[in-house]
Amino acid sequence: PKIAASLEGATPFMAQYLTAKAGQPDAVLFFRMGDFYELFFKDAEVAAAALGITLTKRGKHQGEDIPMAGVPVHAMEGYLARLIRMGHKVAICEQLEDPAEAKKRGGKSVVHRGVVRVVTPGTLTEDSLLDARGANRLAAVAVRKGRAAVAVVELSSGAVDSVACSIEDLGAALAAFRPSEVLVTDRMYSDEATRDALDGSGGVVQALASAIAEPQAARVRVERLYGVSALDGFGAFEEAEVSALGLIAAYLETTQAGKVPALAPPRRLGESGFLAIDPATRTSLEIDRTQRGEREGSLLACIDRTVTSGGARALAERIARPLRDPLAINEQLDAVEWLLERRDLRRDLREALKASSDIARAVGRLALGRGGPRDLAAVRIGLSIAEGVAGLFVGQVDPLTGQPRRIASALDRLTLSPDVSRLKADLIDGLVDEPSHLARDGGYVRPDYRPELDAARTLRDDSRRVVADLEARAVAESGVPFKIKHNAVLGYFLETSAKAAEPLFRAGPESPFIHRQTLAAQVRFTTVELSELDAKISQAGHRALAIEGETFEGWRREAARLAQPLQAVAEALAELDAHAALAEWAQEVGATRPVVDDTLTFCVEAGRHPVVEAAVKAQGSPYTPNNARLDGSGQDGSRLAIVTGPNMAGKSTFLRQNALLVILAQAGAFVPARSMRLGVVDRLFSRVGAGDDLARGRSTFMMEMVETAAILTQATPKSFVVLDEIGRGTATYDGLAIAWATAEALHETNRARTLFATHYHELAQLETRLDHVCNLSMVAREWNGELVFLHEAAPGAADRSYGVQVAKLAGVPAAVVARARSVLNRLEGEKAAGARLDDLPLFAVAEPEPMRGPSPLEKAMQDVDPDALSPREALEALYRLKGLA
Ligand code: ADP
Repeated sequence: PKIAASLEGATPFMAQYLTAKAGQPDAVLFFRMGDFYELFFKDAEVAAAALGITLTKRGKHQGEDIPMAGVPVHAMEGYLARLIRMGHKVAICEQLEDPAEAKKRGGKSVVHRGVVRVVTPGTLTEDSLLDARGANRLAAVAVRKGRAAVAVVELSSGAVDSVACSIEDLGAALAAFRPSEVLVTDRMYSDEATRDALDGSGGVVQALASAIAEPQAARVRVERLYGVSALDGFGAFEEAEVSALGLIAAYLETTQAGKVPALAPPRRLGESGFLAIDPATRTSLEIDRTQRGEREGSLLACIDRTVTSGGARALAERIARPLRDPLAINEQLDAVEWLLERRDLRRDLREALKASSDIARAVGRLALGRGGPRDLAAVRIGLSIAEGVAGLFVGQVDPLTGQPRRIASALDRLTLSPDVSRLKADLIDGLVDEPSHLARDGGYVRPDYRPELDAARTLRDDSRRVVADLEARAVAESGVPFKIKHNAVLGYFLETSAKAAEPLFRAGPESPFIHRQTLAAQVRFTTVELSELDAKISQAGHRALAIEGETFEGWRREAARLAQPLQAVAEALAELDAHAALAEWAQEVGATRPVVDDTLTFCVEAGRHPVVEAAVKAQGSPYTPNNARLDGSGQDGSRLAIVTGPNMAGKSTFLRQNALLVILAQAGAFVPARSMRLGVVDRLFSRVGAGDDLARGRSTFMMEMVETAAILTQATPKSFVVLDEIGRGTATYDGLAIAWATAEALHETNRARTLFATHYHELAQLETRLDHVCNLSMVAREWNGELVFLHEAAPGAADRSYGVQVAKLAGVPAAVVARARSVLNRLEGEKAAGARLDDLPLFAVAEPEPMRGPSPLEKAMQDVDPDALSPREALEALYRLKGLA
């Protein structure tokens, strides 16, 4: 009814616009009008503000001016990118016919238009809008019958993944995908518990109607998306998974305007196959982004030596989603080791890969009908390189093992498959070396590939030559200085100045020059011969373009049909690149192969923090390697280590370092350590370095408690926990009590391997009270009055915290440092006199150092000796003192 009302009094054109807009109420509508996309009403205002383009008016609707703004078609990608980045959705409404057709229908007929695509962060495929080294994923989450699921699609490769998990693990499962956009139902969106998981994912959240996720409706949609009659053929999916896949299917139907992309069958990722890392832990460890959201400075950026964008994405994936099964992990480690041992092969491999293209994304675009000739060239390069790479492996004398063999033989099989070879041969024969970006520009099919194309081109070019000759002839014949020119409206014409043209107007009817147009200073003519040639050229040109378009479409269809084997080639190359990159890095930094098994051991000898080490070395200082030993079974060392030491001594670095080594090892990478033995970890938790979540109105302390709660409810004996400075954000007693209880619970109940850093030295007493606790401290020494950090983790608790010295190092004014030192001395004196654990003196001191002599009252008090007084004298003394007060 709302549309009907707004359509009242609308011109046919406006009615068409309003109808299209009504279908896309929450998107900014780009409405194609010739060489521009126009935006109207509210959309125009939004775009003008966001893009800094001019806001104008066009006609009136129901008595009001219609605001309008426009962007030229050729510059559209840039504007689109900016709107998407700001979180807008953009609907693209195209002209669906040649405007000439509409003119033929006559009257007020409007060109047919329709929305062909809705662009959202998760459904982008354009190279210019994507980060080449990161995947762009659309995720959906659903909860059914107490279980949760995440389904994920990457449109540019057609890969679909699905994970079912417990509701507590939803956050970790979702964050591992780093989605750009997350679909949920309205109901879940308003549920506080799932909101946490969504907020941690980093993607733009879109809430869809809950009915879409109903299992029956969802199943039907997914089956329709795949064109199958039963989903069961792809595996046994839990209800929540079907719901999540249903949300994706529904969203693709609307955003891709019914153009169903070619998707691979959903791959079920067993939740138990991966190391669970929740969003807070990911942020804290700066795995693929720093806490400020930058790639630079993250673990991934530090170790990434890949040479292709596909390889970079594969490595990112591996680090974001480390494995949990020792067998699978060791297979990956085998591959890295194999390539580490073969320096020459690795060098040749990396050299070959460097020239490769982003075949995965090119195929993705071609399969979606969005690709151009340049994407075909990418496929061609990718296939040639795959063949070359497969050849490198054939030349290997020693038998290939495990992963590398599987990849090499897959490459061999794929590049030798008749269909793929034929496509490659066709592209080599038919596609020019450097084709255009867009198919409609033409010029990308080689001469001698299609005779009818050559004929059309020859006709066009020959006629152009005749036209060129015609200029000289016309000048000679008429004596007028003509120039031959061309534009889209007139085609070819003869142009001269108004003055030079004068004699032609006086010429009789037998003159061959026919007047076409008079401009301010120029006059334009044609001749019968020229207009015939013009028609010939434009016909031949159209025909050539049509033949090229047809050729392109044939290749594109073939590439789309072969999308799966082509994607498999891309994947194999990407995986090889990732393996080789990890080998390269291992060699560079002297990393070693970790021993990964099913025990509860954690033993690192001379481990290093890869990122801090690189930073410290860049400044010319050495990095101090550290040992760490924990044993969940309690047989070979302690389960929980209390780490104390002054600020700046390297506690957080030590903690993060060990957590990162777990990630690297389980990602199948070598580790920067002399040796490492690791019983696989099921969940990794890190709470190091507090960050306020001001956006959500949570204080540092509240955040800390929320995260601590998550650890205490989820950590198992197979988990690995690093906790730093729990309880810092509250009053001393509270904080100490919470830290104490947390450490006890981790030791007694969760039984997880834990590194527990604290500034409460009182916790060192846990070593004697609990069976499997040990103390570690980061060593610092005072040297000639200066504090020196050794960054060394040594057995035993720290003796003191050196806070005052650190304050001095930080540049706190000398007077304040001196004053702090004297307050400290006094406090320590009091503590030594009668210190008990629950006798923390921090709040007992309010009084400053005495600056004056004793008062008369104090003097009198000092004179009183209670033991020497009789009760009567005591009463008198009391009256006297009261008199002085
Ligand atoms: P804390 O958590 O104890 O306050 P950090 O872990 O933040 O201390 O370390 C402070 C700084 O010390 C780091 O930024 C780094 O430059 C340096 N550092 C830490 N550990 C080492 C180490 N093992 N070797 C060399 N430098 C280190």
